[in-house]
Amino acid sequence: MAPLNYDTIVVGMGPSGTMAATTLAKAGKRVLALEAQDRIGGRVRTVPFGDGIVELGAEWIHGTEHSRVYELAIQNNVTVLSQPLDYKMYRSDGSEADSALVNDLLTFSLGVVDEPPPEPEPLGQYITRR
Ligand SMILES: Cc1cc2nc3c(=O)[nH]c(=O)nc-3n(C[C@H](O)[C@H](O)[C@H](O)COP(=O)(O)OP(=O)(O)OC[C@H]3O[C@@H](n4cnc5c(N)ncnc54)[C@H](O)[C@@H]3O)c2cc1C
Repeated sequence: MAPLNYDTIVVGMGPSGTMAATTLAKAGKRVLALEAQDRIGGRVRTVPFGDGIVELGAEWIHGTEHSRVYELAIQNNVTVLSQPLDYKMYRSDGSEADSALVNDLLTFSLGVVDEPPPEPEPLGQYITRR
């Protein structure tokens, strides 16, 4: 039977909660991890699609320097592939969009993220303002 006393209760088994619960448990703490949904992962969600899989949520590790996620992937022998920022873009009706323009905007947006605003504000609002 599960113990009724815990050192820590972690609420939510997305990446943050999973990491917190794992770290605490490895340190010998008694941890109760709670998740409201019927699966763990939170906004990371891999689902079957055709003969393969598709990511409905997070899939990219943004940067390799000082990245806990990257370090964790390497420690766990996860294959990590670099991906150049050069996408082909399609509208929902299947027609090709202006990929060059979208790639320019994407590069601009990612550059802006490296220069955070002095006061916190929603990311979309900040990028639009810049
Ligand atoms: C479409 C999409 C694409 C993304 N792409 C990327 C990407 O490529 N790279 C990247 O770095 N980030 C990406 N992100 C962001 C990334 O998913 C989040 O930063 C990350 O999932 C946050 O982790 P978290 O554990 O803090 O929260 P979450 O992943 O949101 O997990 C929270 C968990 O807590 C549970 N929960 C909430 N309230 C309760 C409660 N009261 N009781 C029990 N359980 C509860 C939820 O069900 C959920 O499972 C993306 C997000 C989305 C939506």
